[in-house]
Amino acid sequence: MIFVTGGAGFIGANFVLDWLAQSDESVLNYDKLTYAGNLNNLASLNNDARHVFVKGDINDSAHLCGLFFEYQPRAIIHFAAESHVDRSIVGPAAFVTTNVNGTFSLLEAARTYWQSLEGEDKENFRFLHISTDEVYGTLAADDAAFSETTAYAPNSPYSATKAASDHLVRAYHHTYGLPVLTTNCSNNYGPYHFPEKLIPLMITNARAGKDLPVYGDGLQVRDWLYVKDHCSAIRRVLEAGRLGETYNVGGWNEQTNLSVVHTLCELLDELQPKAQGSYKDQIKHITDRPGHDRRYAIDARKIEKELGWKPQETFTTGLRKTVEWYLANDEWTKQVQSGEYLKWVALQYEDE
Ligand code: NAD
Repeated sequence: MIFVTGGAGFIGANFVLDWLAQSDESVLNYDKLTYAGNLNNLASLNNDARHVFVKGDINDSAHLCGLFFEYQPRAIIHFAAESHVDRSIVGPAAFVTTNVNGTFSLLEAARTYWQSLEGEDKENFRFLHISTDEVYGTLAADDAAFSETTAYAPNSPYSATKAASDHLVRAYHHTYGLPVLTTNCSNNYGPYHFPEKLIPLMITNARAGKDLPVYGDGLQVRDWLYVKDHCSAIRRVLEAGRLGETYNVGGWNEQTNLSVVHTLCELLDELQPKAQGSYKDQIKHITDRPGHDRRYAIDARKIEKELGWKPQETFTTGLRKTVEWYLANDEWTKQVQSGEYLKWVALQYEDE
């Protein structure tokens, strides 16, 4: 069995679905079900005995420890986090609580459990920490892409707390010998993405006839990776990654935010044309995010060369699949756009 934290969120749910589509090894999915956690993402697993869901908080070390001893997982894959940069600016405390303290509690529980193992079980155990390229800070237009040796320079409360968690994971390897691996990935997109993030926000707003809010000039650059390619990278690192190492994961696909929005509008114009005009007419530039990093770019040569991983999707194929998924899954979007989501939208745009 593998133990996944945050498996009801965007990447975690895609990972659990992918894992169980490719393997019979069961998954214990441990998730607090914050606004970002959604069991509807896993509805296709209803009645599948290989998926065990437990509601819980990664700050609850005793609960985690009890589950580890009961289920004896061979690996922990740690996705659980507060993940939205804009929310970290409005309310950073939750980010420290979950991303820093929560990762610490999880590491403590994992260490206790791992130290109790013997022989091959102990040797083969893995703690795989899922992190972000945002820990490296920002790049100028002609800077080299982030590699695994780039110095950490996080600029937002979100990236600072993820950086802190990466350091804790590293320290648990160097200090206690815990067999850890870390991946630092670029921006993901794909099915089950909560519509506060750029790509699903644009798709859902466009279809609802609302403004498409673009921060500042929209020329901030991000590397984008289709979520299922991230999942395959995680599986590969779990299988063959060298202990204590970090692996950057990216799609060699730098895009300005504005060009992402334009491409989405063009796809929607083709797949669900408006009665009149283009979805591009709905684009509205809004005040830039404070401390907004200008450019992220990932050098993914290490994982490609060492582990033979490569993304399967191009941005064109991945984005088309994503738009098609949202067009076919209105019910999912309606459900996540109620309650907490509406409160957030009201808070975010109250000054606009
Ligand atoms: P998400 O916000 O969609 O999901 C996070 C999940 O964690 C939710 O299901 C939530 O309920 C759960 N959770 C939050 N706090 C918890 C707690 N205290 N205890 C237990 N569960 C808790 O996030 P995501 O986009 O799926 O990201 C998953 C991981 O990947 C995060 O660690 C994030 O930093 C990292 N990451 C994300 C991206 C991206 O583009 N989304 C890119 C690189 C890395």
